[in-house]
Amino acid sequence: LNDNIARAQDYMKRFREQGVLNHINGESVPADSGKTFETISPVDLSTLAHVAHGGASDIDRAVQAAEKAFKTWSKTPGKERRAILIKVAEAIEARAEEIAFIECMDTGQSLRFMSKAAIRGAANFRFFADRAPQAEDGQALRNETQMNVTSKRPLGPVGVITPWNTPFMLSTWKIAPALASGCTVVHKPAEFSPMTARLLVEIAEEAGLPEGVLNLVNGMGEDAGKALTEHPGIKAIAFVGESRTGQMIMAQAAPTLKRFHFELGGKNPVIVFEDADIERAVNAASFMIYSLNGERCTSSSRLLVHESIYEEVTRRVADIANGVKVGHPLDPDTVVGPLIHPEHEEKVLSYFDKAREEGATIAAGGEKVGTEGCFIRPTLFTNARNDMTIAQEEIFGPVLTAIPFKDEEEALRLANDTQYGLAAYLWTNDLDRAMRLTDELEAGMIWVNSENVRHLPSPFGGVKSSGIGRDGGDWSFDFYMETVNVSFPR
Ligand code: NAD
Repeated sequence: LNDNIARAQDYMKRFREQGVLNHINGESVPADSGKTFETISPVDLSTLAHVAHGGASDIDRAVQAAEKAFKTWSKTPGKERRAILIKVAEAIEARAEEIAFIECMDTGQSLRFMSKAAIRGAANFRFFADRAPQAEDGQALRNETQMNVTSKRPLGPVGVITPWNTPFMLSTWKIAPALASGCTVVHKPAEFSPMTARLLVEIAEEAGLPEGVLNLVNGMGEDAGKALTEHPGIKAIAFVGESRTGQMIMAQAAPTLKRFHFELGGKNPVIVFEDADIERAVNAASFMIYSLNGERCTSSSRLLVHESIYEEVTRRVADIANGVKVGHPLDPDTVVGPLIHPEHEEKVLSYFDKAREEGATIAAGGEKVGTEGCFIRPTLFTNARNDMTIAQEEIFGPVLTAIPFKDEEEALRLANDTQYGLAAYLWTNDLDRAMRLTDELEAGMIWVNSENVRHLPSPFGGVKSSGIGRDGGDWSFDFYMETVNVSFPR
């Protein structure tokens, strides 16, 4: 651990000394206002770096750079875009340790997951790079009088606004397909974890991405983020964050008629029937809530269990929760690191009081660990009902609410009784039941007898308050490209 901390300090030295700058038109620059804000370590609340505090004028310059670069990047043949983006993937792999170490310190998420997330970032670049040469392909549609030729064109400069959880990987998931499509990007990362976005733009330009194609403006949501969503030069906003922020962005961007892709909150059910492989279901449900600090949009935060196995399942999950190692994010044995920020920790802790007030039982955890930093114990609430706040609101921490059900009908009703609809997990060995339920579950993504395993060509996204639109595979290209039809007479 001490060796890892020393290496992380080395990696972060230049950010400590020079700050985290914006990056506009190939140049690293401070905010126009000269202002900065601090990013802190959730381990001990020490300042990691001062970050450029951008606003509307920085966004405007970044959009101008993206508009200028769009003229050439959008005309760069797909094969050439592919070659550059593959180099970006290779450069990410080469610096994966640096990315992971810095991300651990900036977010509190543990190394065992962040090292994989950095590599996933490279995989995202490779995957979308490979599709760049065919991105503009369309089809011909013919009838007696017309020949219609459809093809796709990149949309223009786009805005990417990302949250603080798994920030590097999530940024690549948006930025790689935008660049593969021929769009240029202005990225506004989350203010709680801005450091690895800075690495991404640096890595991308060193790998050959032309200046102005990817621009970075740090700042708060209410100024830099808002200005990006309102800018007429930005044709689409890819946003990942809270549902209520999505509502604000939609209103802010309405006057300039932008395209949106929203990946928002979740309160995802994992439904375990009595005929399921209980061991696997318990392990998967625990993994999906106690990995990545539970700060993941697809976490299985509601455990719905058939009443006949409720005692056994919740006892086993409580045992797992009690055994999870909470510790320094750079300790290779740590599973749960500190939550991102004291403000977020306060929010998560407030649900422990809420659970007690509402009459749920705290079967594991339910308390802070130590006095320094944002560490809390992995938590399980039992004796809960679905109408309790702890079952309705997204807590976004390692906190699971377990609710029993009597039969299939009740399981379905409880699963769907939420404003969210991102993911659902279903555990049963009855194929007919699985078919019936997957037809009725209100979720954009359903995993049967599995935790969240991603297949990059498949669609990702939610229904209800969990989002609008899909990305992944061709869906990403549909979002970042405009389909144009040309009709010829016959
Ligand atoms: P957030 O909504 O507070 O912030 C996300 C980003 O939006 C930040 O960069 C922030 O600065 C910016 N922002 C805030 N207000 C803005 C405004 N008015 N205009 C423009 N930009 C603005 O979310 P967060 O707390 O950083 O992240 C956690 C949330 O993200 C959770 O709800 C989680 O479920 C969600 N999330 C969803 C997915 C998904 O795929 N569905 C993935 C990861 C996280």
